[in-house]
Amino acid sequence: MLQLAAPRSVGILKDLVGFDTTSRNSNLALISHVEAFFAARGIATTRVPDETGEKANLIATIGPKDVPGYVLSGHTDVVPVDGQTWTSDPFTLTERSGLLYGRGACDMKGFLACCLAKVDEMLARDLVKPIHFAFSYDEEVGCKGVPSLIERLVETVALPEACFVGEPTEMQVVIGHKAKRSYRAIVTGRTCHSSLAPQGVNAIDHAARLILKVREMGVELADGPSDPLYDVPVTTSHTGTVAGGTALNIVPDRCDFAFEFRVLPGEDADALVDEVMRFAREEIEPEMKARARETGIAFEQISSFPGLDTAADADVTRLAKRLAGRNDHAKVAYGTEGGRFVEIAAIPTVVIGPGSIEQAHKADEFIAVSELVKCEIFLDRLIEEATR
Ligand SMILES: [Zn+2]
Repeated sequence: MLQLAAPRSVGILKDLVGFDTTSRNSNLALISHVEAFFAARGIATTRVPDETGEKANLIATIGPKDVPGYVLSGHTDVVPVDGQTWTSDPFTLTERSGLLYGRGACDMKGFLACCLAKVDEMLARDLVKPIHFAFSYDEEVGCKGVPSLIERLVETVALPEACFVGEPTEMQVVIGHKAKRSYRAIVTGRTCHSSLAPQGVNAIDHAARLILKVREMGVELADGPSDPLYDVPVTTSHTGTVAGGTALNIVPDRCDFAFEFRVLPGEDADALVDEVMRFAREEIEPEMKARARETGIAFEQISSFPGLDTAADADVTRLAKRLAGRNDHAKVAYGTEGGRFVEIAAIPTVVIGPGSIEQAHKADEFIAVSELVKCEIFLDRLIEEATR
């Protein structure tokens, strides 16, 4: 049972969690639900679909469109529950001791629910600056949905003066996050019986050389530029998966691995990827091809997003601190859509939202009711700001 004194957002969150918007699924059922929510209040919405028509971003504006306003940005997709053991059904919001359990409760349907919970209040007030709702798809698979949302938004409204990305920060003002580049390397060798090993080209051996290169770059980066506001103050590298070979007595002709760089804002993320590719092309491939011409190393990008690097004294940072009632700020290791708002449209952006990233993506993900209350207070103050 949900407690009687629960904030308005709890009921809305219950509805949102009920839609299984795992990134591999369509999010349209949730989008239709939110459209109906706005339509019932006479607010027009804009759907920005993906190329398959299976997913969509949603934009809604309350207040005048021709003056700079505020963006409330959140993603509608969630990470899978596959292989996780949950105490209760992940798609049924369940309260236990003031904590609301459900997939996406914290990352980040809690924020979406708080935003929607304030719509009636926004309508009741005479907003002189608009508040834009910017709900995206496919954030969890590399911030893929939000670019088309941002492009459409800035085509249709005056350039917003501030954007709040509501990822879970426990309502701390987050002004920076790292950029990310992730790639898959596909190493093609030549197979033969292992007793004839020198006649083949061992794809695993050559993949291992490149994996070691990625690791050595990480070791060097550890002595490079650093920013003490990050938990991990330096740019990092990492190999996360590797697959190759079929049997010990066969020289493997294929080995794939996935690697990434998490890059401090201001550092050249693409140059790091280029260095890996250059090493493959100049140091590894010539040796492989000398023995079998069909061999080689190919790369596929998995995901790429820019970092966020908002100044501690920027107007958006000051505003967020005032609305949150706090003076501190932080930088985080994980990525968000924030960097895209700056990169595509130069909209000043900070990340601030209810819940803790500690609970994101895990089994028994939850958000505390008290976090929703904090976020609703933040939004109440934003509404005050928008009436001035
Ligand atoms: Zn998220």
